[in-house]
Amino acid sequence: MAIYTFSCQLCGEFTVWHKSNKGNKQETLCPTCKTVSKRVDYSHQIDPVVPSF
Ligand SMILES: [Zn+2]
Repeated sequence: MAIYTFSCQLCGEFTVWHKSNKGNKQETLCPTCKTVSKRVDYSHQIDPVVPSF
């Protein structure tokens, strides 16, 4: 099981569970409006800047 986060242009972010872990699941249909939504890949996210006091 793997959970993926997608971003719909109309509805915002949503998460989908996939039973198989095939990978390369880059887009899916939004469950609300059926628009093709791109996957949000948090693995490429840069660490937030921690303010120094
Ligand atoms: Zn949507």
